[in-house]
Amino acid sequence: MANDKQDFQVVIIGGGPAGIATSLTLTSRGISNCIVEADAEPTRKSGEAIPPNAKPLLKKLGIFHLLEDPKHLIYYGNESSWGTDKLEQEEFIQGIYGSGYLLDRLHFEKQLRAHLKTNDGVLFMGYRLRKVVRDGQGIQVNIKKDKDEVLLTTRYIVDATGRKASVCSHLGIKKQAIDSQFAVTFKALLNEQIAHKICVEATENGWWYAAPQQGKELMIMFFTLKQLIPNKSEVADFLKKELDSSLHLSKLLQTAKLDLTHVKIMPCGTSRLDTAYGENWLAVGDAACSYDPISSYGITSALGSGLYAGHALTDALANKKDAMLTYQFIMETTFQEYMERLMVHYDLEKRWAKSVYWKDRFLQTEAITRDFNQS
Ligand SMILES: Cc1cc2nc3c(=O)[nH]c(=O)nc-3n(C[C@H](O)[C@H](O)[C@H](O)COP(=O)(O)OP(=O)(O)OC[C@H]3O[C@@H](n4cnc5c(N)ncnc54)[C@H](O)[C@@H]3O)c2cc1C
Repeated sequence: MANDKQDFQVVIIGGGPAGIATSLTLTSRGISNCIVEADAEPTRKSGEAIPPNAKPLLKKLGIFHLLEDPKHLIYYGNESSWGTDKLEQEEFIQGIYGSGYLLDRLHFEKQLRAHLKTNDGVLFMGYRLRKVVRDGQGIQVNIKKDKDEVLLTTRYIVDATGRKASVCSHLGIKKQAIDSQFAVTFKALLNEQIAHKICVEATENGWWYAAPQQGKELMIMFFTLKQLIPNKSEVADFLKKELDSSLHLSKLLQTAKLDLTHVKIMPCGTSRLDTAYGENWLAVGDAACSYDPISSYGITSALGSGLYAGHALTDALANKKDAMLTYQFIMETTFQEYMERLMVHYDLEKRWAKSVYWKDRFLQTEAITRDFNQS
C-alpha cells in the first residue's frame, strides 16, 4: 500500500463542471490545487441543455471553444405546452445571445478533463474520498484508489461532489431538500431528424422533456413525484401510459422506437446547503445547490459557482476578510432569484388542480413563500 503525502492550497473533491471551473480559476490565479474524481473515466450524466445566456460565462472560463465541437448541437429554442393545450414556440434567435447548445454530455465531461490537463491541472482520477479531518490549522484529506492511499494536506477543501454533497456529509453538514421531484429518463429513436429544439409538456402527473441528440436520437425525461413511480418491472408500462396522456409528445413519438430497457430513475428536485461555506471548506455546483431541471440552470450554475469560488478562495488565502461572505451572498441571491422564477413558472399550470403532482407544486410554492416572508 503506497502512503503518499502531498500538499495543495486547495483540494477539490469532484471533477464535474463545478470542480473543473473551480480548479481552472484557482490555477489562473496561481493557487496550487488538485481535483479528486471518483470515476476513472467520465460517465454519462443527465443534463445537456446550455441556454444562450451561459455563453459569456463559458468565455470567461476559457472553455467556450469546447462547445464548437461538432459532437454538440446548436440549440435553437423551446416548444412548450405549459398552462395551455397549445404548443408555444420560443426562438432564441430573437434574444441577444442567439442560440444555445445541446451537449453530448459524455463528450463534454471528457473535454473538460482534457482541457484541465492541458492547463496544468492536477487530477487524481479514480480516487474516492475516504476521510476528512479538520485540525484547526487546515484539513487532512485521505483518498483511495484500490490499494493506493494518498494523504492530501490543504488549507481549504471544496465540495464539488454533486447532489450528494459528500464532503459536507463527512463534515456533518446537512443539505436541505426542498422538493422530492424525481426524473425517469430514457432514449428514443425517431424516423427522421427534427429541429434542434427542446420540447416541454406538462401532463396530469408531471411534465415531459425531450431533447434532440446526434442523428435521430431523442433524450426523453419524465419528471414526477417519487411516490408516483412504480417498481422497476412496471416502469415501462407506466411511461407508455403517461406518454399517451400527452397531447404533443405522444404525436412526435408515434412511430419512434422507445428504448425502455435502459430507463434511469434519479432525484432531481431543488435542494441546498444553508450556507455554502464554513471553516476551511466551501461547496460549489450541485453540492451547494441543486436546481430543478425545468430551469436548465444546473450546468451553468455549476460553472458559475466554480468561477466565483475560485476567486473567493484566492482572496481568502490572501486574508481578504469578506471573500467567503461575498461568495455566500452571490449564491444566496442567485438561489432566491431562481426560486422566485420557479414558483412563478409552476404557478402558470392550473389545468390539473386535483392532481397529486400539481397539488404538491402548489404546496411547495406556499411553503417557500412563507419561508421567504419570514426571513
Ligand atoms: C434528470 C436531470 C436533468 C438535467 N438537465 C439539465 C439541463 O438540461 N441543463 C442543465 O444545465 N443542467 C441539467 N441538470 C443538472 C446538471 O446535470 C447538474 O447541475 C451538473 O452536472 C452539476 O455539476 P457538478 O459539477 O456540480 O456535479 P456533477 O456533474 O454531479 O459532478 C460531481 C462529480 O463528483 C464526483 N464524486 C462524487 N462523489 C465523490 C467522492 N466521494 N470522491 C470523489 N469524487 C466524487 C462524481 O463522480 C462526479 O463526477 C439535470 C440533472 C438531472 C438529474
